[in-house]
Amino acid sequence: MFRSTTIANFKTRETPFYFYDLSLLEATLNEVVKASQKYNYHVHYALKANTNDEILKLIQKAGLGADCVSGNEVEKALAYQFAPTKIAFAGVGKSDKEINLALENEIFCFNSESIQELEVINELAVEKNKIANVALRINPNVMANTHRYITTGLEENKFGINMWELSTVMDRLKDLKNIKLIGLHFHIGSQITDLTAFKSLCIRVNEIQEWFDNRNVLLEHINVGGGLGVDYHNPDENAIPDFETFFKIFDDFLTLKKHQTLHFELGRSIVAQCGTLISRVLYVKNGVKTDFAILDAGMTELLRPALYQAYHKIESLTSKADISQKYDVVGPICESSDCFGKAIELPELKRGDLIAIRTTGAYGQVMELSYNLRDKVKAFYHT
Ligand SMILES: *Cc1c(COP(=O)(O)O)cnc(C)c1O
Repeated sequence: MFRSTTIANFKTRETPFYFYDLSLLEATLNEVVKASQKYNYHVHYALKANTNDEILKLIQKAGLGADCVSGNEVEKALAYQFAPTKIAFAGVGKSDKEINLALENEIFCFNSESIQELEVINELAVEKNKIANVALRINPNVMANTHRYITTGLEENKFGINMWELSTVMDRLKDLKNIKLIGLHFHIGSQITDLTAFKSLCIRVNEIQEWFDNRNVLLEHINVGGGLGVDYHNPDENAIPDFETFFKIFDDFLTLKKHQTLHFELGRSIVAQCGTLISRVLYVKNGVKTDFAILDAGMTELLRPALYQAYHKIESLTSKADISQKYDVVGPICESSDCFGKAIELPELKRGDLIAIRTTGAYGQVMELSYNLRDKVKAFYHT
C-alpha cells in the first residue's frame, strides 16, 4: 500500500525503477533478530537475494552475518563491514580465485559439497599455510514442496553430498590436513511456505548427526540454510514473515549437541517485501482473449516470472477508472516469456498509468539482465 505522497513522488521519476521501503526492512530485521536471539541462533543474510548498498548497510547494522555464493559476494560482504568470522561461503563450484580470496580473509566457513572441491580447498590452503574451516553440505533428500527449479534438497538435484557418499568423503578428509571439518550444511530450497518441510529437515538432521556421533566426529555447528517463504499474494497483510514460528520449529524438533550452534541463511524472507518494481504502461494493445498492458519494465528488470513462472502481485497506482478489465501484463523484451501475469484484473488502464509489481526485493534487481541493451534499472529508497 503506497501513500498518495509516495505515489506523487513516483510520478516525477523515470520508470522503471525499484522502490525500497527501508522502514519495512528495519522492522523485518528487528523481528528476525528478536526471534532468533530467543534461541541464540545465528542468522546469515544470503547476499544473493539483494546486494543494494542501503540494504546491505541496514542488514550489517542489525548484526546479521553473511552467506555468500561467489567470491565477489564475499568481497562485497567484507566491503560492507560484515565480520569475516560471520561469512559463510557456499556454492557447488568455487573457482581457485574465489577459494583463495576466502582463505586470505579467513572467513567463518566454506560450505563444500564435493570431494573434488575439498581437495582443491585443501591444496590451496596448504600453499597459503592456512587451515580452511569447512562444513559439508549434505543432501538430506527432503522434499520442499516448492517450484521444481528452486527445490535443492533432493538426491536428483546437483546440490550437496548424498548420504551414500559420506563415508568416502570422511575417509578422504582424514588425509586433507589443512581442512578442519567444523559443521554440516543443509539448504532444501526456497520460497517454502509449508513449514512441515523444515520439520522433516530437522528430523533428517538428527539422524545424520547420529551418523557422525557413531563415528565420534564432533561438529561445532549446524547450518540449516534458508528458504523461508513470503506471502506474494498478500504483501500488505503479511509484510513480515512469521520468523517466530519458523525458529520455533527448529527449537522443537532439532536436537543440538552441547556447544553446537545453529546457523541460518535467510535471503528472501528478509528483503522480498521491502521492494517494489515501479513501471509505466506504455501501450494498451487489443488481444484475442484479453488486452495486453505493455509496460516499460520487462524480464530484464524482473526475471522471476519468466524464469520460474513466479507470481507477483500487480497493482495499478494511478488508474482512477471505475470499470476493471483483464490484462496480460507484459514487458517490451523480444521474448514471449516476457510476461508478468496473464488475465490480471486491473482498473481500466491507459498509457502513462503507474504499475507496482510487488514483493520484488529478493531475486529482483540482482537478476537484472542487459539483454536488448537495456538501461540499468535504478533504485529509489524510502525511509
Ligand atoms: C539461496 C540460498 C540461500 C537463501 O535462500 P532464501 O530462500 O532466499 O532464504 C541460503 N543458502 C544457500 C546455500 C542458498 O543457495
